[in-house]
Amino acid sequence: MIARKKIVAGNWKMNLNLDEAIHLVNDIEDNLSSGLHSKVEIIIFPAFTHLISISSKIKQLNLGAQNFYPAENGAFTGEISVKQVIDAKAKYVLIGHSERRELFFESNAIVQQKVICALNNNITPVFCCGEPLEARLNGYHFDFVEKQLHESLKELGPSEMNRIIIAYEPIWAIGTGKTATNKEAEEMHAFIRSWIRNQHGNECAESISILYGGSCNPTNANELFACPNIDGGLIGGASLNPQQFLSIVNILNGLS
Ligand code: PEP
Repeated sequence: MIARKKIVAGNWKMNLNLDEAIHLVNDIEDNLSSGLHSKVEIIIFPAFTHLISISSKIKQLNLGAQNFYPAENGAFTGEISVKQVIDAKAKYVLIGHSERRELFFESNAIVQQKVICALNNNITPVFCCGEPLEARLNGYHFDFVEKQLHESLKELGPSEMNRIIIAYEPIWAIGTGKTATNKEAEEMHAFIRSWIRNQHGNECAESISILYGGSCNPTNANELFACPNIDGGLIGGASLNPQQFLSIVNILNGLS
């Protein structure tokens, strides 16, 4: 059996000023049990403007950007290129987060361009997918997620595919306090893994970490992370609280 990377990632969204962000990084770093990072990879996604300052403070944490524009440079006022993200020391990027899809109209086609651009520049995409409530209530949640996977990842070969991380985030669970049950989450994670298996074979499917996101907290993390196809979490709200974030990391560490 292939051992998959266990990952806890914190999406800080558009929160925290620089002092608060540095304080949060120091709190997390100071309280991480030593050696923990060898079992659980921890990634934080602060605002763009904080990346460089934070990069000089982190020891055990890894750094990611919340977004980028899929071009190296050019007339894209207000955007940040993949090269600039790399300059700012980020090694990961969030791609296809539901807030980008819903508020900034990012299509599966744009998400695909971003995944390919990130891989071409050796930066690890955290590809987010997940269905809206209507799809869940009407029973087409698997079809919805399959379309996202197909339209954004179909061009990748197995050697590219196994350089990405997937986060399944049902939109109705993000920031709502309503988490998917471990059964709902596990069956979607198993579905995503079987989609990868059909496209790229078992070895590739078994090597990819699939994270759960959506109101994950210290109370529900244990049940979710104990599921065989859930390899960690993408955490929003609870990642801004160092005690809660660390306790989620400790839960995953204890199960790994
Ligand atoms: C997110 O935005 O990726 C997320 C999972 O948020 P929350 O944990 O607050 O639901």
